[in-house]
Amino acid sequence: MAMWNPWRGCHKYSEGCRFCYIHKGDCKRGVDTDLIVKTDRFTAPVEKNKKGEYKIKAGQTVYLCFSSDFLLPDADVWRADCWNMMKERGDLHFLFLTKRINRFMDCVPSDWGDGYDNVTVGCTVENQQTADHRLPIFQSAPIKHKNIICQPLLEQIDIEKYLDDVELVVLGGESDPDARALHYDWVLAVRQQCVNTHTHFEFRQCGTHFIRDGKEYTIPVRQLCSQAKKAGINC
Ligand code: SF4
Repeated sequence: MAMWNPWRGCHKYSEGCRFCYIHKGDCKRGVDTDLIVKTDRFTAPVEKNKKGEYKIKAGQTVYLCFSSDFLLPDADVWRADCWNMMKERGDLHFLFLTKRINRFMDCVPSDWGDGYDNVTVGCTVENQQTADHRLPIFQSAPIKHKNIICQPLLEQIDIEKYLDDVELVVLGGESDPDARALHYDWVLAVRQQCVNTHTHFEFRQCGTHFIRDGKEYTIPVRQLCSQAKKAGINC
């Protein structure tokens, strides 16, 4: 596993952005998140060591743009270089998430065709409205590997009709002292939609405020993922 953040910074875009971890981290450091800047890791996938070998070894999943959104308009001038690097590194698998799937077809390279074999796109939704807006676009987009990310999930949603060709649904709650609560019933409902459609499902993160069997729990940030794992409902 490797990380690749060719640029950093993002603009809040929808309800799911309220407690964006990038904005929160930047705020503590006095960094303006709305300033989108290239990082010194821009060419990381194609950088080589003195022996002429790629520094990022073959066979890994590369998590792309986890300090921004890969389809951010501000980054339009830089994205073509990124696609070229992903093409050059066919021995790596790249994964990026986006809330801006409506921009996807304007952002792909001319030789994209049905999609690159080594790229997974995760479409993020947080409620029924964003699901009904983004997932039909995602469904019709030519992408070889599709994930849906329901995180932070803010209400019960029905996404079953959008699950054709989706490899994995990831679900998580919101992390913040003022976070909106995640109800376990919502988690089980999405899981059932995945079971019905033979789609892999992963409960990745509880919410800071988590409601199960009518009781509310406050979960420390360090335990959000381990508590979700303990539920043992991934399939
Ligand atoms: S789109 Fe993602 S990275 Fe950008 S502000 Fe929203 S949550 Fe943060």
